[in-house]
Amino acid sequence: MSEKWLHRIRLVLPALLRLALLGAIAVALGFAFGARAGLWFAVLALGLLFAVHLFYLSVLGDWLERPSLATIPEGAGTWSEVFARLYKMRRASEIDERRLQESEARFRRTISALPEGIALVDAALQIEWCNPVAERHLGLKLQADQGLRLTNLVRDPVFVAYMTSGDFDAPLVFRPLANPSLALSVQVIEFEPSRWIVLTRDVTQSERVDAMRRDFVANVSHELRTPLTVVNGFLETLLDSDAPTDETRRRHMRLMQEQAQRMHRLVEDLLMLSRLESQENPVADEDVDVPQLLRELADEARALSQGRHAIGVEAAAEHVRGSREELRSAFGNLVSNAIRYTPAGGRVTLRWRVADDGARFEVEDTGIGVAPEHIPRLTERFYRVDKSRSRETGGTGLGLAIVKHVLLRHQGRLDVQSQLGRGSVFSAWLPRSRLIVVAAAQRQAA
Ligand code: ADP
Repeated sequence: MSEKWLHRIRLVLPALLRLALLGAIAVALGFAFGARAGLWFAVLALGLLFAVHLFYLSVLGDWLERPSLATIPEGAGTWSEVFARLYKMRRASEIDERRLQESEARFRRTISALPEGIALVDAALQIEWCNPVAERHLGLKLQADQGLRLTNLVRDPVFVAYMTSGDFDAPLVFRPLANPSLALSVQVIEFEPSRWIVLTRDVTQSERVDAMRRDFVANVSHELRTPLTVVNGFLETLLDSDAPTDETRRRHMRLMQEQAQRMHRLVEDLLMLSRLESQENPVADEDVDVPQLLRELADEARALSQGRHAIGVEAAAEHVRGSREELRSAFGNLVSNAIRYTPAGGRVTLRWRVADDGARFEVEDTGIGVAPEHIPRLTERFYRVDKSRSRETGGTGLGLAIVKHVLLRHQGRLDVQSQLGRGSVFSAWLPRSRLIVVAAAQRQAA
């Protein structure tokens, strides 16, 4: 006999036994007091049993309306077994339900924690659910917007056209009208027939890097094209003229040399920048004799100035730990800028001073100065306040970008104070941890 049948028989066995007992009593009564008495007893007993079952049936019906473990009824005989089984079933299904709810809640928590925005929409683009990142990216409020069409809430024409095109092979990158400083990449993935995941990703940073790279390439090409055009022009003139005089030839050669030097400086600065940016090129750990460096830089400044400026030096004795070549290049850029942007008769002072928080290499000039709105941008590549003045004096537009990178590599920074028409102080700050104290420096020198 199958398991199922054994189960059923076990369930109804008490009822069958009770029925058999009643039958036996009825037969006994029939023998003792006559068939009529036995029959009456049987009818009454069966009626009573029927009423009991009807009662429990109605109790069961009631409970099934709102089944809960707390209100499970108690029964007698077969019914107690039925209710016990119902109790077990209900308990198992409540545990399953709770597990399901927990795993759904965990799933939503996981999706909510993702850095990407996720919105679930149906075939009519109505929002079923979205995580907080999608709310932020698309300007949604889940509570208020659930069930509304996404394209009625995010109305940017490019977004609406993309969402309704049905062609989602390539992601869409756009800047939402509501938040133009944000660049969003949108991807749509079908995860069930007629249900879609709208994935949004903040690509502001990579868009900015891309734009910078494009600008940089355009700038470099432009910077190289100008001197190349000049060199080309002179070469053509020399080739075309039948018999240029020695004087003309020399003049043209000199002008071509100037342009070649300009390209050379540009390429040198570009190589320097790329070395500074390279991850595989850690900063050297040398003992840099800054007072000595200042003396050399002052000599170079005098040569560059050719007597047009008064040049002063005030130097503390401390050395620093770092790359001699890089610090020389950074400090040298600040000095040559001071000479180049200070008219004849001005004063340029080189200073090396030590304070509690670190040390500063300062170049103070009485030159043309920089208006406040330009100061934050001076270290950008190719940013110049006055393009023609920078070029005339041999500037590549990369000097302060190099300074900034060198200082960053030495955990330092560049501070600029300037007054238009009065002069500037460009100061390279280095942290105390990079200082080699005087006594030690002197001992090493000895
Ligand atoms: P450049 O090769 O053009 O000098 P830099 O990166 O060295 O490039 O400097 C960027 C710009 O900062 C310069 O074009 C100039 O406008 C401004 N600048 C730099 N140093 C000074 C200074 N000492 N006085 C005034 N302006 C300066």
